[in-house]
Amino acid sequence: MDLTYTPEEEDFRARLRQWLGEVLPLLPAKPAATDWPGRRAYDAAWQRMLYDAGYAGLHWPRDAGGQGVTPAQHLIFLEETELAGAPYVGANFVGLLHAGPTIVAEGTPEQRARWLPPILRGDEIWCQGFSEPDAGSDLAALRTRAVRDGDTYVISGSKIWTSHAEIADWCELLVRTDPEAPKHRGISWLAMPMDAPGVTVRPLRTLAGSAEFAEVFLDEVRVPAADRVGAENDGWRVTNVTLAFERGTAFVGEVVACRRVLGALARTARDNGRWDDAVLRRRLGRLSAEFTALWRLTQWNVSASRSAGGAPGAGGSVFKLRYSHARQELYDAAAEVLGAGALDADHTWVADRLSALSYTIAAGTSQIQRNIVAERILGLPKGR
Ligand SMILES: Cc1cc2nc3c(=O)[nH]c(=O)nc-3n(C[C@H](O)[C@H](O)[C@H](O)COP(=O)(O)OP(=O)(O)OC[C@H]3O[C@@H](n4cnc5c(N)ncnc54)[C@H](O)[C@@H]3O)c2cc1C
Repeated sequence: MDLTYTPEEEDFRARLRQWLGEVLPLLPAKPAATDWPGRRAYDAAWQRMLYDAGYAGLHWPRDAGGQGVTPAQHLIFLEETELAGAPYVGANFVGLLHAGPTIVAEGTPEQRARWLPPILRGDEIWCQGFSEPDAGSDLAALRTRAVRDGDTYVISGSKIWTSHAEIADWCELLVRTDPEAPKHRGISWLAMPMDAPGVTVRPLRTLAGSAEFAEVFLDEVRVPAADRVGAENDGWRVTNVTLAFERGTAFVGEVVACRRVLGALARTARDNGRWDDAVLRRRLGRLSAEFTALWRLTQWNVSASRSAGGAPGAGGSVFKLRYSHARQELYDAAAEVLGAGALDADHTWVADRLSALSYTIAAGTSQIQRNIVAERILGLPKGR
């Protein structure tokens, strides 16, 4: 494992920093958090700027339209864009961080050519249709049924908690293609157009007041069999590729953001007198150590994934587990620093505190991450 950057990587950092300094002032004003069409347009425009400048799909292989840079350069990109206050992946999250990498790893040449370029350009938005009302942690219990009719699947069922479903063009959809097989062996991974007849999206509002996810109802939706990624009934293996990317790399840029928030918290505490509280100071110090350790863990995971051929391993679960709790502790500390100001729902730290609550649930709950760490890293016996 090598945690230092080479002169070439530092050169990459310097060029990126210069580019960010030039383009960020040109960005339009950020749309309101609840303006989803506006957010889609804003995130797509940023993705297009990255694409035109050669920064889209940095760590994707060149034959998939990416730039094929080293994992360390990718980390530098995440670090520098966050430090510069550049937009986050936003609405492009699923396309760039889950579905795209899965299609890179598992798609046919035709599928890569069809779906990857629009993802990289920010032209098409994806959502993730995995969870169902009775299949969350136990995802393999999913019941949405796809029945083969010649070259087409006819799909009926429902999905829930589908982030960005309202503005998405495509859905990475898990369906049951063999109800007789053991539950992990009868699943397939499909790409479903969100405007297909029979798709109904009903938005759900979060605690923070944002309709960022939805229920998706599927009533005899027809999807060509050619839009299945991986073999029929092999979707569970394909899904685990998606989930490894989701847990392994999707939250990396946010660690940098949290370190920045921590610095701002300490400054605010000094200004408003809360810094005199030794317990609070110790708490902020411990959080600082935690986020430094998480950044080192990220570098370690990236280094390990390089040796493993690119796919993040179960180390991503260790990261996801620790990160989601550290993020909640960070915003609890922010509420203490703010004092009565923590009741101001418009304060960005207060909104972030509400959304941090979802981090120990989304992308697999903490209990599930602990099970993965116990079974796949520590080699403990399965509890079921
Ligand atoms: C903000 C947010 C965005 C999301 N976006 C998406 C999305 O875009 N697409 C999508 O498909 N899903 C999405 N989800 C859904 C998410 O993946 C599920 O909520 C999550 O996997 C938990 O499933 P569940 O809600 O059904 O809870 P359940 O699985 O019902 O779990 C309930 C409780 O039981 C515990 N539990 C369950 N099984 C075990 C076990 N074996 N051992 C120990 N404890 C256990 C859980 O940890 C949890 O505390 C999102 C969720 C959130 C919060």
